[in-house]
Amino acid sequence: MSRPPKAIIIGAGIAGIAAAIRLRMQGMQVVVYEKNNFPGGKLNGFNSDGFQFDAGPSLFTKPELVEELFLLAGEPVSAYFSYEKLPVSCTYFYEKGPIVKAYADQQLFAKELAEKLGEKEENLKNYLKKSRVVYERIGTVFLNFSLHKISTFFKANIGSALKAFRWSHLFKTMHQLNRASFSNPLTVQLFDRYATYNGSNPYQAPGMLSLIPHIEHNEGAYYPQGGMISITNALYQLSLKKGVLFEFEAPVERIIQTEGCINGVVVKGTNIPADIVVSNMDVYFTYNQLLQDNRKAKKLLKQERSSSALIFYWGMKTEFPELGLHNIFFSKNYEAEFEHIFRLKKITDDPTIYINITCKCEPGVQAPRGKENWFVMVNVPANDGQDWHAYREKYRKSILSKLAEILQKDIASLIETEQVLDPVLIEAGTASFMGAIYGTSANSKTAAFVRHPNFSKKIKGLYFVGGTVHPGGGIPLCLQSAKIMSELVLADVKKMHA
Ligand code: FAD
Repeated sequence: MSRPPKAIIIGAGIAGIAAAIRLRMQGMQVVVYEKNNFPGGKLNGFNSDGFQFDAGPSLFTKPELVEELFLLAGEPVSAYFSYEKLPVSCTYFYEKGPIVKAYADQQLFAKELAEKLGEKEENLKNYLKKSRVVYERIGTVFLNFSLHKISTFFKANIGSALKAFRWSHLFKTMHQLNRASFSNPLTVQLFDRYATYNGSNPYQAPGMLSLIPHIEHNEGAYYPQGGMISITNALYQLSLKKGVLFEFEAPVERIIQTEGCINGVVVKGTNIPADIVVSNMDVYFTYNQLLQDNRKAKKLLKQERSSSALIFYWGMKTEFPELGLHNIFFSKNYEAEFEHIFRLKKITDDPTIYINITCKCEPGVQAPRGKENWFVMVNVPANDGQDWHAYREKYRKSILSKLAEILQKDIASLIETEQVLDPVLIEAGTASFMGAIYGTSANSKTAAFVRHPNFSKKIKGLYFVGGTVHPGGGIPLCLQSAKIMSELVLADVKKMHA
């Protein structure tokens, strides 16, 4: 009997783990090599003096994509993972302005926008209706299929996508589209913010990104019990149960190929053979370091990086009842903020501040009773050699002063523990080029089409998953990249045996 084909996965990020489960369930022998001593990549967490922190992602959407992996593996999801739908997806604070709660109940949210911002209730309803159409007809083609295979045109419902397509999705920016949909600039700012969900600029990114609010407002935002790290833990346990092997502290040094066919990888100077290799490493570094293909790596540099993040993890001595799980403190001049991030590549004097507090969902578990775990994040440019030490100091001061003014408390004196993450540390931690958190930005009309495919056109047996390749960054998209990749592998294997 012939042995099952062997797949090597480079990286145990969420996309790498999902890829491992899928290939294992296709009958392959799967080994994951991870440079760190833990799984999850950006989706990890840590404890500091009794405060639990999610290190990276904080917003959980599309839980069915996690569940799908359990279904595929024939394991009960409830034994590994549980989550709840949030009644309020985010609380928005405007400087010297109203506080707006984004209720999951659309009627309540429409009423809130009408009462606080004078927005007509039907504006929200119409917007979310259109957002649903764009997502369901066009977005699903991007999310479910490779854009680089002719077969997609036969499998995907392209006719329906074309019918739903409007030139304004491409030729109007997201901001222009939002401005045409809402009357109050503060509502426009609220919906412009969704461009940051894939590290982009609403003043440049195409109106197509207006499909993102559909996911949060029509489908819902969720909280996973135990915090975001529980997604990694659940999928890691599932892959172990199914027989995936993991090697930690095992950075892949090179991908080996002969005459356009994959042979395996080099780890710690040893050649390890494989039938297929899946890179979950940043695609730029895969070409630059593992394939030493500088020409291709240079070509990839033409695509603009997504934004990065500066994060303060603060253990707070007291509770703030006015805050929820997700909170946004908007800047006054949103356009200037994005101009700084993407064109000037500097930080601004007045950043939009995001605070995530998981103990709001699990009091006494995520933080000691009577205290709070604050994940305080601002969007910043990808690392281009800026003085991050100076930027950290500057932002710490401006964040503290803005929050003190809005929350009417001396925030600095209430910080009990502190850790910081900046773009340089993000790059060092997960080998993410320039510390970009979503790979490339979606700022251009062609971004979705030029993102690297989930397979190599030159090397047979080499595939790609994760936030730096199709369909893009963010947990749901990373999970989809693994699905698309596994379907490509299946089709290639079938072709080989035909
Ligand atoms: P990664 O998580 O980067 O994993 C890649 C793995 O490969 C790493 O473990 C790395 O160590 C390993 N590796 C690299 N090189 C090698 C090598 N040579 N050999 C072996 N291993 C190697 N997404 C959301 O959905 N919601 C959010 O709210 C959200 N917020 C975010 C906030 C922050 C601060 C950050 C950083 C990201 C956020 N994201 C969010 C984005 C999301 O985290 C990423 O898109 C996703 O986790 C990327 O997963 P990945 O598997 O592609 O890559």
